[in-house]
Amino acid sequence: MTRTKCIYCNQEITTPSKEHVIQNALGGLYESTDICCPQCNNYISKYIDAPFTTIFNPIISRIDKFSKTNNTKSEPPCTGYVIYNGQKYIANIKSGKVVSCPELSRQLHCDATKLPLEIVEYKFDLQNTYFQQGMNKIAFNYALASGIDSKLLQHGLHIQKSPSDISSITFNYPLIPFYAMNPIDNYLELETKMGLYHSMILFQQHTRLWCYIDLFNTFQYYVLLSDKMPTNGTPIYKSYAQTLQKPDRTPPELDICRHKDIMIYANQYGVEPCPDIAEFSRRIKNAINKKSQKKKLSDIISAKMNAMPFDYPIHMMSDSSQMMMFYQSLHLYFNENEELQEHNFRTLTVAPKTYNAVPYPDAILHTTKNNQTKLREYTMSKFNRLNSYLCQNNK
Ligand SMILES: [Zn+2]
Repeated sequence: MTRTKCIYCNQEITTPSKEHVIQNALGGLYESTDICCPQCNNYISKYIDAPFTTIFNPIISRIDKFSKTNNTKSEPPCTGYVIYNGQKYIANIKSGKVVSCPELSRQLHCDATKLPLEIVEYKFDLQNTYFQQGMNKIAFNYALASGIDSKLLQHGLHIQKSPSDISSITFNYPLIPFYAMNPIDNYLELETKMGLYHSMILFQQHTRLWCYIDLFNTFQYYVLLSDKMPTNGTPIYKSYAQTLQKPDRTPPELDICRHKDIMIYANQYGVEPCPDIAEFSRRIKNAINKKSQKKKLSDIISAKMNAMPFDYPIHMMSDSSQMMMFYQSLHLYFNENEELQEHNFRTLTVAPKTYNAVPYPDAILHTTKNNQTKLREYTMSKFNRLNSYLCQNNK
């Protein structure tokens, strides 16, 4: 069903305008044309998207072959920390290079950028309202693009209208930071090789509608979109995932001297083998051109699981209750054929002691109410992983 009226101003959409569910500046590829009119789209991109996406400048400027469609060449400036003589200083950075470090320059009465400075950390400001607004908008857009009736989402949307125009749009949905509450999630998030992707899961639990958002596989939050969902009918579930780097589409130089070589290439590119080399190269070229950045969430997770050493639980689980948590969460997420049971992933977790399956966001809320330590530790670990990835890319 296509909407004909703008979600914000309620005017008829006469000219469709593309709205990216995840902001284009962050490489989001999912587009919808029936969310809003061009005027409201402009408002959103200026006052919500622009300040939100600035937060991620350190990442945007450091990813090779980053897939955004506008300003592909721009490498926005950002701030981070450098180490000099064992001391940490804040610095302005562009394209992985320090452009100024005022504090150190003052201290040493010289241009600090001439010194051998090592960038060790980038700065992300997640405490500002732009972060909350931007995450809210992603969840809101994803729900609309998935066909959720906008009436069910109205309560978290505040619009102020002057007689002629919209004067402000704000979102007001609760944001709950994710943290890995079971050993499988802990493994997936902290023990596997760092790979950058975005994912979203829209799901219903009783009367609640949640959207789980994971940006750059680091910024992970649940957004509570509604607690007045009708419970007749199948609960809503939808997921989306994409990688952030454009796949390399240069066709390979085929080096075929044996029959075996054809089989090796056929496997590598997922094409039918063929003895006619010209035809075979054409098939490979087609396969490369079809490579998509959009992925199934289950494929991303399965690839990570396949990389788990078989003796991982023995080395990582210190006691029998942890071992039990490990196997129960494995059982919760994967069936006997080791396929991901997507509906359970990030929507449910395993409760300690009882080992029952419990709703994920509620379990987080419950545990963090009196103690934020685990959440802080997890967030730090995720940041450290991202930072070492970005700082490594500087070299
Ligand atoms: Zn509008």
